Parts: sequence; C-alpha cells; structure tokens
Amino acid sequence: MLNKIEHLGIAVKSIEKSAKMYEALLGKPAYKTEIVESEGVSTMFFQIGESKIELLEATKPDSAIAKFIEKKGEGIHHIAYDVNDIEVELERLKGEGFDLIHLTPKDGADNKRIAFLHPKSTGGVLVELCQEKKV
Ligand code: ZN
Repeated sequence: MLNKIEHLGIAVKSIEKSAKMYEALLGKPAYKTEIVESEGVSTMFFQIGESKIELLEATKPDSAIAKFIEKKGEGIHHIAYDVNDIEVELERLKGEGFDLIHLTPKDGADNKRIAFLHPKSTGGVLVELCQEKKV
C-alpha cells in the first residue's frame, strides 16, 4: 500500500542558490542536507506538513540529475511515495507490469530504503518508493 506522498524531488543546478528561494517560498529553513555518494547527488530537505521537498543537485557530471537538467532543465524530478514494506510493494508493482529500475531496495537520503520505477511504465513520471529505516 502507498501511504502518502513522502516527498517531491526537484532537480536544481545549485542547492546553494535554490535554497534561498525555497526558504522564501516555504517560509522556513531546510531541516537537513545530505550527500548520497552512490547516486552522485547532494540533497536538501524541507518539511511541509506530512510531506517534504527534496532538492537535488548533481555532484558529478554523469549523475542522473546532471543528465536530467541537461535534457529538461530544473524542475520536478520525481514523486516519492511512502510505503510500509518496500519489498512487498516492489513485488506487487512488478506483478502489475511496472518496469522497476531497482529490483531490490537501496539506501537513499533521509534514512530511507528506496527504489525507483521507470517513467516509461508510469506515464512519464519517475516514481520513487521509500520506506523509513527502522532505528
Ligand atoms: Zn527522492
């Protein structure tokens, strides 16, 4: 089951520059920044009620975010849904015919296990599933 929209991922050229605009827009500071080395991204998170905004900046030229910005410019990159059991959901979605980018979950930012679905099977929208890691 998908519980809620956990966050929206937004690709930006520079987190440092975008942070000021988002702070002004949302009326609050970010609550964390984190680099995800394996993905080649630097992230910044803002809490908005139950959901979050995740800013994503490429840390290397061959990262997915760098390629996305090159092709489409800055903007919404993915929608992330919160799930209770990511393995069960991946199995269910595979059964529904969705194209999984990650067959098994991997570590993501913000204490999450994550997996992406390919946008070609989701109407052009990159979809992330994320499950809070138990501490
Ligand atoms: Zn995300």
